[in-house]
Amino acid sequence: MYDLNGFMRELEKRNPAQEEYIQAVREVVASVIDVVNSNERYLRNKILDRIVEPNAIHEFRVEWEDDNHQVQVNRGWRVQFNNAIGPYKGGIRFQKNVTLGTLKFLGFEQVFKNSLTSLPMGGAKGGSDFDPTGKSESEIRRFCQSFMRCMFKYIGPEIDIPAGDMGVGGREVGFMFGEWKRLTSEHVGVLTGKSLACGGSLIRPEATGFGSLYFANEMLKRNGDSIKGKTVAVSGFGNVAWGAVLKANELGAKVVTISGPDGYVYDEDGISGDKIGYMLEMRSSNRNIVEPYVERFPSARFFRGKKPWERKTDIAIPCACQNELDINDAKQLVSNGVGYVVETSNMGCVAEAVDFFIGKRIPFAPGKAANAGGVSVSGLEMTQNSMKCSWSAKEVDDKLKAIMENIHKACVENGADGDYVNYVKGANIAGFRKVADAMCDMGF
Ligand code: GLU
Repeated sequence: MYDLNGFMRELEKRNPAQEEYIQAVREVVASVIDVVNSNERYLRNKILDRIVEPNAIHEFRVEWEDDNHQVQVNRGWRVQFNNAIGPYKGGIRFQKNVTLGTLKFLGFEQVFKNSLTSLPMGGAKGGSDFDPTGKSESEIRRFCQSFMRCMFKYIGPEIDIPAGDMGVGGREVGFMFGEWKRLTSEHVGVLTGKSLACGGSLIRPEATGFGSLYFANEMLKRNGDSIKGKTVAVSGFGNVAWGAVLKANELGAKVVTISGPDGYVYDEDGISGDKIGYMLEMRSSNRNIVEPYVERFPSARFFRGKKPWERKTDIAIPCACQNELDINDAKQLVSNGVGYVVETSNMGCVAEAVDFFIGKRIPFAPGKAANAGGVSVSGLEMTQNSMKCSWSAKEVDDKLKAIMENIHKACVENGADGDYVNYVKGANIAGFRKVADAMCDMGF
């Protein structure tokens, strides 16, 4: 029998200074421990001990030359967490504070997220402490090429298929894909999130944000409610936030905030039309600040160093980074009467905030369910690459919507508690079962 605190104490001892990874594991183990303890096969297979351990971690020195012809050195990783239900799959994050612990947390989350999509994908994550902010395009290209030279021997279209994440978009995926082709001479679906010209899928750039709103729509529908006319607070202003704002508008909601590391923008009139396109311009300027929005649209206001959660809105959608929403933010949102929280960043809320929302019976969607749309369309990109075909935007979008509805259904089936749905528990149990069963079926 497993004991949560004993198990976690041991894990902390074995993984010092990896707080984010410990946080992610604790949430999953707390959700599934009763399922495991009542399943003789899981116990006999020591399933928890095995599932929290990555299959392999590749760490490399990434050397590149900057525009001043100086040698630069960064650290890179590919964490291949679990391939029980399919080849390793997960994004690459370039951000200056990335550590191995960050990538282990993201890889661990990815295992259960990918399982929820119902597509055959294992979980992985990669990245580097390279900071793309302010770098020229040539520097980014040289870094991406060097990163791929370090990683290429560990990946392949039936082994491990990386994609984008923070700091890695279509441009960076293109540079890495180009280097893969130069190294192997193969044009295969070894990366997803490629441009259309390189064999990417329609709707992939929009997918995470669209998926999150499809999930939110299901949450509201279950409560006999509707997104139409609701006000929404979004954080972040990158690719995920952009897709979320786009779909929220399409569904008739009004998005009043976006944010960056510098602060947040409050636009009472709603972020719609041209303003949504401007988010992409801010992103491609590579400055990583959101303040230029109010220079362009002066009726909006900018709040330096503040977070959007101080605003009174019906729905909160964190789309920036892990642990961006703390317990004080959670209390403020609840005291302002927030109806729903749809975590779209990976582990966007601290554990105490999640417990607070659940304690107040606020419907709270965890990132691994709400943001699964991105990797789902990556899975659809892999299918199109293998079939040597391309689907229309509508075909992909319809499939994405159906996947998100299914994930919502699985969360309800495993997390319903009377009228309330504990989506954290539902997502963790549903995602865990498939991976655990596959691991037991295959022996060790
Ligand atoms: N980085 C995204 C995520 O966190 C997408 C991964 C992928 O498409 O492989 O799920």
